[in-house]
Parts: sequence; structure tokens; C-alpha cells
Amino acid sequence: MLDIRQIPVLSDNFIYLAREPASGLVAVVDPAVPEPVLAEAARLGWTITHILNTHHHGDHVGGNLAIKAATGCRIVGPAPDAGRIPGIDLPLGDGATFDLGAERARVFFVPGHTRGHIAYWFEGAKALFCGDTLFSAGCGRLFEGTPGQMWSSLKRLRDLPPDTQVYCAHEYTQSNIRFAVTVDPHNADLRARETEVAALRAAGQPTIPSTIALERAVNPFLRADTAAVAAGVGLGGHDPVDVFAEVRRRKDNF
Ligand code: ZN
Ligand code: FE
Repeated sequence: MLDIRQIPVLSDNFIYLAREPASGLVAVVDPAVPEPVLAEAARLGWTITHILNTHHHGDHVGGNLAIKAATGCRIVGPAPDAGRIPGIDLPLGDGATFDLGAERARVFFVPGHTRGHIAYWFEGAKALFCGDTLFSAGCGRLFEGTPGQMWSSLKRLRDLPPDTQVYCAHEYTQSNIRFAVTVDPHNADLRARETEVAALRAAGQPTIPSTIALERAVNPFLRADTAAVAAGVGLGGHDPVDVFAEVRRRKDNF
């Protein structure tokens, strides 16, 4: 198992600390900033041994060098983007594995948001760290990739076991749902999630982690191959990549 702690930072980022209890190894996922991570690790009595980066954006790697300097940890990140990951020690490509003590992560190359984005799937711990590829009820903007690439990337994540916990890097759920209901208005699961999220946010609670099962039901970007979402963007019968591209385009302009 993994003991996973969520650290909210900046306006809407999540950093995660994950400790594998048998070995005591501790990974930080996508440290936007160093100080809150070092403080939380100290409070927990945890020694940071690794940083896992999903992609090169500053709000995911900004804490790399300071945390490495403070702890001597090893930095793990995407091989296709090794040149853009500060302090990287261990570049990993698609299909690679990374062992945090007794827990093994499988690396998925999931381009679209950036050209080198990867995700870490801890199969035994049922945890997916997907950075800015998959959000709850949303997905990352296509800064460096095509709709076809992102659709393929999201389908790989969608195919993971339904009970996989989705640890994404931003609390965007409520604004994502405000958009999602415009392209999937008759989705009862989405309306139920809308109600749940409103209550969580009103109570100051995070909406993350989500699960693959929930995202399959409510996320319009995972549902581009359903008749409902295709009809929702006026593209009934069209290729899912075209539907996905149109949903993404509308979200960009929402
Ligand atoms: Zn990003
Ligand atoms: Fe980000």
C-alpha cells in the first residue's frame, strides 16, 4: 500500500507525498514549490527519497532543486522531456517501471498537454498520478499535442481498473463541471457529481482523488465516443477524435 497525503499549494495545485511503509521510501509527486512539502514531511516524520515529475511545467517542477538540495532525493521524470526537468536523475519512458520499495509504478507516455507528459500508475496501491493529463470532469489544455494524441492518452487512462484512485495535479473540478453540463446536459451521474462537488467545495474540502469509474461516467473528455457527448457538440456520428477536439475547443473558449 501507499500512504498518500495531499498538499494544496498556490491557487489550485495539489502536491502529493506517497510513503511505502515496508521500506519507508517517500516520493513527492510534482512539487510546485518546496517549502510546504519539506514542512509537511517534517511534520509527518517522513524522509523524502524521490521526486516523481509528470511534466516540465513550472507548477510541477518548481520545487525540484530545493527539495533535492535539502534531502538528497533522486528525481524521476519523463525521458522524452529529460532536458526540461530540473535535476533529473532517472528518465523513464513508456512502459518503464519504477519501484518505490514494495510498490511498483508503471509509466505511461501520455502526450497532449505537453509532448513529454507521463503518468505513474501504482497498480497494487490502485493509485494513478496523472499530472495535467486527466482532471476530474476535465483534461489538460493541448499546449504541445494534437487532439488525436490526447484522446489516445486519455483512453489509456480510461482503461485502467475502475477502482483506481485518480490523483491529478489541480483542483479544477467545479469549473470543469460548469462546462461539462453544457456538452453532456442529460448525464445524471454528472449532475450527481455536480451536487457532491458543490457540497465539498462549500465545506472547503478537496474533490480529489477521483476514480476511473467516476471519470468514465462524468468526464466529457473521456466520453467523446458516446452518442450523448457527440450530440452535445452537434457532431452525432462523427469520429471520436473530432468530437474530442470540438469539446476541447469549446472548453478553451468557455
Ligand atoms: Zn501543466
Ligand atoms: Fe499544472
